[in-house]
Parts: sequence; C-alpha cells; structure tokens
Amino acid sequence: MLIDLHNHTNKYSPCSVISPEDLIDIYVKNGIDGVCITEHNIVWSVEEQLLIKKRYEGKIKIFFGYEIDTDFGHVLVFSAKAPDIKSKIPIPLNKLNTFFPVKTSAFIWAHPYRWSSYHESHLTKLSDFDAIELYNGNLGLERIKYTYDNLRKNYVRFTGGSDTHAVSMACKYGTKFDDEISTNDELIKAIKFGNFKPVEY
Ligand SMILES: [Zn+2]
Ligand SMILES: [Zn+2]
Repeated sequence: MLIDLHNHTNKYSPCSVISPEDLIDIYVKNGIDGVCITEHNIVWSVEEQLLIKKRYEGKIKIFFGYEIDTDFGHVLVFSAKAPDIKSKIPIPLNKLNTFFPVKTSAFIWAHPYRWSSYHESHLTKLSDFDAIELYNGNLGLERIKYTYDNLRKNYVRFTGGSDTHAVSMACKYGTKFDDEISTNDELIKAIKFGNFKPVEY
C-alpha cells in the first residue's frame, strides 16, 4: 500500500499553510492509501487523532508521527510513546531513545542533505535509523541523486514523503509498502521490519 510518510498541517506546524482537512482531502481524491501527519516537534493528542480518523474512516488511513529537530538534522519519529519534547529541542540524536524506546519506535533521517553535505562520519550514525528519506518534496532531483549516490552503498532503506506545507506540495512522493497497514503500531513495524520503497506519484 502507498503511504506518504511526511506532511505538515497548520494545526501544529506554523510553517505550513494547509489545513488537516485540505491535506487529507487531496490524498483521498488521488486514491492514496494512507497519509502521515508529522508536525514539527509535536504529535497530535490521541483524542485529536481519533476524531479526524473517524471523520475519514473507510476513505483513507491516517497516521501520526513527529518531525524532530536533532543535532543531526530532522528525524521523522513514529512511536507508541507521545512525550512532550518541545522544550527539549534540539535533541541530541543519541538521546532520542531516552524519549522514544527503540523497540516500539521507528526513526527516519529526513532529507539528509537538504542543508548539509555528505561526510564520512555520517556512516557511523546510519544504524540509528530504520530508514533514510530519499524522496522529499523540498529537495530538487540533484539533491535526491546526491543522497542516493552517497548512501546507497551502505545498508540503508529509503522512503519517500512529500513534506507538504501547502496544497501545491501534496501528493508528490510516497512510500510503497508490501504490508497492509492500518494502525500506527503496524506502520512502526513495517518501517522497522517490512519491505518498502520510495515512489513518485
Ligand atoms: Zn524537515
Ligand atoms: Zn518536514
């Protein structure tokens, strides 16, 4: 199934100008199986998640994570835990597991080379991630190729996400999973152990 793993809404991401409903409507209209809302440094409350999931029941699967500022760039985190980490950012990458238990959380290095360049020392950090975001709507093709060329030699698995902040950015990239995924826990498992690949819509 096809899931866009990386999107922001104006509910909790001040840099986004798209409402949750407008975002999800676009994915429903395009027949995408699932969409993740990954706000900056915050995750929606369980009550908020349930409410919007109910509204779109049977139309699309909606998942929730964070995009967290770390000393190693942005990290998409999907977790069974939902701590309030806003006052703790940037969180050192090696301290993420004190907030998010590794066994029940999935970590994706978002847009690795959006602002920086490859360095050999990055290779030692790759094992901290379950996957690397290769396709990102804020990256040009040249930057995507740069990421691929530098990291593909290592044992990494790639994902895709639109990183939507506005209507015009939605539905660009996603991740195709072999598994059928309905819940956040299943998504975490699929990112950690399943088969998937980044795709362009
Ligand atoms: Zn980011
Ligand atoms: Zn983002």
